[in-house]
Formats: sequence, structure tokens, C-alpha cells
Amino acid sequence: MSPVGVKLVCPLCRATVVDGAEPSGGACPGCAARYAGGGDDARGGVAAAIAAWGVAGIDADRAGEGLFRLLPDDPLNAQVTVTSDRRDGYYRWWVFVADGVDPATALAAAEAHAS
Ligand SMILES: [Zn+2]
Repeated sequence: MSPVGVKLVCPLCRATVVDGAEPSGGACPGCAARYAGGGDDARGGVAAAIAAWGVAGIDADRAGEGLFRLLPDDPLNAQVTVTSDRRDGYYRWWVFVADGVDPATALAAAEAHAS
């Protein structure tokens, strides 16, 4: 699958993070949020982000579920969120953690929202 046309927009500030290249993790040019992931689904994105950041003790299934269960007005949405990029074919999923937020702390808080 050609990476041409891939677009990843920061879910925290709406800046365009990647446009036309294959995302590989890094920081948002708009708000400095860190992002990682690239899984084929939300759980895979969370698992890849956990691996990229070296976070221990987080269950990717539960953290991913917890992120989806957050209500729109939950303040945790401003700290950690999962989003998909846009591309032809299957999109990939990325976790964004706001600048200054510890990924381990934020993902543990997300995991606590799982059923
Ligand atoms: Zn941003």
C-alpha cells in the first residue's frame, strides 16, 4: 500500500501532523503532543504506542477500551486520546499524549475507565 495520501491530524489541536508521508511517531508541530502507534485497529495502536514509549504494566485492550468509553467532556480527553489517520485502504491508529503529560500515567488513567 502506497503511503502517498496519508494524512494524520492532531486530535488535540487539529494541526496537520503528517501529510503525504508514512507517520512513524514523533511530536505534533502545533501543540508538541507526543504520538506513537500505527496499529491496524485502536487496540493495536495503543499496543504499539505502549511499546514505543516503553510503558510497563498497561493492558492495551483495556486502555484502548477506556479511551473509547471516555465521555466528550472528560478532562482526560485533553491528555491522551486515540485517533486514526486517513489514507486509501485500511487506516492506522495513533495515540496522542499532550505535551508535559506522562504516557504511563495517562494510559493508566484511561485503563481505569475500561469496564
Ligand atoms: Zn497538536
